[in-house]
Amino acid sequence: MEARKVLKSGEFLVENSEAKNIFIPEEFNEEQRMIAQTCQDFLNTEVYPNADKVDKQDRDLMKSILKKSGELGLMGISIPEEYNGFGQSFVTQMLAAETIGAGYSFSVAFMAHCGIGTLPIMYYGTEEQRQKYVTRLATGEILGAYCLTEPGAGSDANAGKTNARLSEDGRYYILNGQKMWITNAGFADIQTVFAKIDNDRVLSAFIVEKDFPGVVISPDEHKMGIKGSSTAQIFYNDVKVPVENLLGKPGEGFRIALSILHMGRIKLGANVLGAAKKAINDSVKYANERKQFGVLISTFGAIKFKLAEQVIRTFAAESANYRVSKDIDDLIEKYKTEGCDKGRATIDGISHYAVEAAILKVYSSEILDYVIDEGVQIHGGMGYSAEMAIEKGYRDSRINRIFEGTNEINRLLVVDTAMKRAMKGDFDLFGKAAEVYNNAKHITSGKPASESYFQEKSRYISNFKKAILLCIHGASSKFEKKLVQEQEVLNNISDMIMETYVAESLALRVQKLGSIKGDAATGIYQDILNVFLYDGAEKIRKAGLDAVYSFAAPEEYTVLANALESLTLVAGVNVKEARRRIADKLIEDNCYKF
Ligand SMILES: Cc1cc2nc3c(=O)[nH]c(=O)nc-3n(C[C@H](O)[C@H](O)[C@H](O)COP(=O)(O)OP(=O)(O)OC[C@H]3O[C@@H](n4cnc5c(N)ncnc54)[C@H](O)[C@@H]3O)c2cc1C
Repeated sequence: MEARKVLKSGEFLVENSEAKNIFIPEEFNEEQRMIAQTCQDFLNTEVYPNADKVDKQDRDLMKSILKKSGELGLMGISIPEEYNGFGQSFVTQMLAAETIGAGYSFSVAFMAHCGIGTLPIMYYGTEEQRQKYVTRLATGEILGAYCLTEPGAGSDANAGKTNARLSEDGRYYILNGQKMWITNAGFADIQTVFAKIDNDRVLSAFIVEKDFPGVVISPDEHKMGIKGSSTAQIFYNDVKVPVENLLGKPGEGFRIALSILHMGRIKLGANVLGAAKKAINDSVKYANERKQFGVLISTFGAIKFKLAEQVIRTFAAESANYRVSKDIDDLIEKYKTEGCDKGRATIDGISHYAVEAAILKVYSSEILDYVIDEGVQIHGGMGYSAEMAIEKGYRDSRINRIFEGTNEINRLLVVDTAMKRAMKGDFDLFGKAAEVYNNAKHITSGKPASESYFQEKSRYISNFKKAILLCIHGASSKFEKKLVQEQEVLNNISDMIMETYVAESLALRVQKLGSIKGDAATGIYQDILNVFLYDGAEKIRKAGLDAVYSFAAPEEYTVLANALESLTLVAGVNVKEARRRIADKLIEDNCYKF
């Protein structure tokens, strides 16, 4: 079989992909579907019946549910067999993360344990550390937490003051300091704690057991949402950490922290999809039961608009999530065949896709907030009632834009990382950007006399990419090294990049679906694509113009604005009818079945 052509991280800005080369969720295999079903069954039997009870900050109950999920094997999905796990592919891990994502506070506690609570040791631990801890984390025998944030060190994580001093006999590091906002703090048996050795400027990482004398855990914070997830401060008062519990090398902590956060970001992208689908299901079920003016509210155009938009945005974000996941799997395999050990191949494969990780984190968490907000609106007054699942979902969703790197930090990372990869020589971003910019006065929409449906969509997306390149060249030549201080412009470019990446993933998915199911069966997906591109073009145009008017000299405005108009020109779409068709399918199915 011909190998899939996989692009490097960020390369999509200058290269187009073919539909046959991307993975789509419709290609999940039987085993992957079974794993997802097991996760769903667990939510139905253990999580939902206890959802209100855990939200009363019942640490013991949450701990017991987590342990049950471990006994069932759910905590070992991403862990290799030799450490008591099941060594599943990254796509499978993402599908499990998506399914669990509909589990409110449990989802946060579970994902923190399996991700930031376990993976630092899995990927940076010695063989002894893995045998001692990972084998038990994978089964839920012990639970984990990750302690990076401090009162003075949030987004600026390297600013932490927690200190580790080697004892005189050289057998221990003496740890002193304070961590805050630590998920699972209330019951985690072990913590990965980031601290600076002596007067180091960079962090190191340590495995700390909760029973080491001097570890003091505060009561849980009172939070807006995810109340069932234990979040607390932890104090370290002269804690003696054996030297063999140093994780990685001295000074390697920041690198460990960041690479684990990359992984967390991608998984969060999938995780919130599950929450979004749950919100859509709650919304459509309510709309199909609630009558006003003598009819079901699902018959109103205003409600159909909301239901359709919930579907469109979720379906689009899903396309991007699984496209990246398979790219990561392929890169991991490539590294392995090149002789890299399995652990290194995995962490390097995931870390490589840093541009896409940041895109998925921001885009998907913002989709969820949109979907859930409209879900509350569809419920009317009942959406404001604490009796309803949608109310809990609304409160629980908000955190996703804050942790795993705030969306502000991740938005900046999208552009920053793409530019750094290009400077390293991964792809020719700046040469192509200069070409587009220098040709700005001749830019047209490039519409030929005739083109097929997918050729047209592909042209739109190529044009969106040119719009991004135009802004990248304009902004970087105007601001040069000071571009980093122009966050508003970077945000404009980042928004253009995210919209384009998701649009391309969606278009390729619909095209591939057509080749699998036949074009006739993909009408509803073409509706999704048509509306998404019609709206996306407008968002890209607006963000591009905001950037242009911020970096260009007034005499350049007309040429650049005209170029952006041409590059974001898309054919008109009867969005009302398209959205009605999408909503009608959802209403008929009475759940998300796209
Ligand atoms: C419920 C919950 C669970 C958490 N779990 C964990 C955990 O398990 N382990 C852990 O270590 N941490 C955890 N955190 C901490 C979380 O990662 C931080 O809250 C987050 O990184 C933001 O840091 P901060 O709260 O200090 O905000 P700040 O960094 O003070 O940010 C405040 C605002 O300024 C913006 N900002 C900051 N710097 C910049 C910049 N350079 N450019 C532009 N804007 C900027 C931010 O985006 C934000 O909008 C958790 C937090 C919460 C609320």
